[in-house]
Amino acid sequence: MTTTLDQFATTKLASLDAASLRRRINPITRCPNAIALRDGQRLISFSCNDYLNLSQHPAVIAASVAATQRYGVGAGASRLVTGDHPLYRTLERRLADLKTTADAVVFGSGYLANIGIIPALVGAGDAVFIDELAHACIWAGAKLSGAAVLPFPHNDVAHLTHLLAAHPWRHAIIATDGVFSMDGDRAPIAALATIASTHGAWLMTDDAHGIGVLNAGRGTAHGTAVPLQMGTLSKAVGGYGGYLCASAAVCDLIRNRARSFIYTTGLPPGVVAAAIASLDLIATDPDLCARPLRHARHFTDALGLPAAQSPIVPLILGAAETALAAQASLAAAGFLVTAIRPPTVPDGTARLRFAFTAGHHEADIERLANHVRTSIMIAA
Ligand code: PMP
Repeated sequence: MTTTLDQFATTKLASLDAASLRRRINPITRCPNAIALRDGQRLISFSCNDYLNLSQHPAVIAASVAATQRYGVGAGASRLVTGDHPLYRTLERRLADLKTTADAVVFGSGYLANIGIIPALVGAGDAVFIDELAHACIWAGAKLSGAAVLPFPHNDVAHLTHLLAAHPWRHAIIATDGVFSMDGDRAPIAALATIASTHGAWLMTDDAHGIGVLNAGRGTAHGTAVPLQMGTLSKAVGGYGGYLCASAAVCDLIRNRARSFIYTTGLPPGVVAAAIASLDLIATDPDLCARPLRHARHFTDALGLPAAQSPIVPLILGAAETALAAQASLAAAGFLVTAIRPPTVPDGTARLRFAFTAGHHEADIERLANHVRTSIMIAA
């Protein structure tokens, strides 16, 4: 008996439902200062990566509108054909200046950056050494490259050193998140850089959750020589797009070889202009950049948890249904906090993931901590 496509989909969805793992998209209207409206309910969002609330900043919006009026809504083609516009070079210059690299390349998104950069640099006969908790799109880029993919235990530099010596390779990338997106901790970048240069491997950091919020906005790798620094414009920068900051030669090679750069349409001009305006704010307002981490530390202090290393604080609850119940309890108390379930995180580690932004108020953080302490930590 053949299975129709609809039968196949319905069966798969039923098994996700049975395991509390089915995802549903909830329409949410975001407002300034971390307020969100869902089904008419006003919630304070602790689940958004817009760490500096720049997606709502008047100067960023004005820059985006002005560029759209001047250049139009879409880029119209790949950048290598006719999709380029002058704002692109300005954005790449700003990124390179912030990261103190010689050059930068902008991609359509962080995901597209990772699946383009890694296969452009390594392939059969090469290796990608990857932190086991690295983001899904680093894994996707590593697998797509055709290189051997060799995971090392989370932040385990000693194990990585052993793997580097134990496997033959021609070229190798060591790939890690700078800030781990579901755990909020940081990679030991200085130690990784030392090991990479000792072994002649190339260190690549994904600074999606570091740019704009750590080291006065310069990100996790600031102060360390990291040859491949990628990241996204969709979190603290408030808009959309991905980037690689690297040497001029590496950036040029990427423009020539990364398939997710070559065979896709350039970002809309309004999106590029918004990122430039955001980076101007990031470069000139260190107090703004420091606020999300300060708020996260306020929360971890209030709960007696280890001090937050980034604006992301996880509370691991175990079973998916427990995390969903905690999410519902927080929503009833006026907080939007999303449960994170497998396969985004390993089995048995479903969690609440709190993300702090510059626009949060201390009194709300205290109310949140109080609710978590009395209704969630005690129940768990
Ligand atoms: N890397 C990390 C660590 C991320 O958390 C994300 C976003 N979830 C990405 C890359 C992908 O970035 P983008 O949303 O721009 O595709």
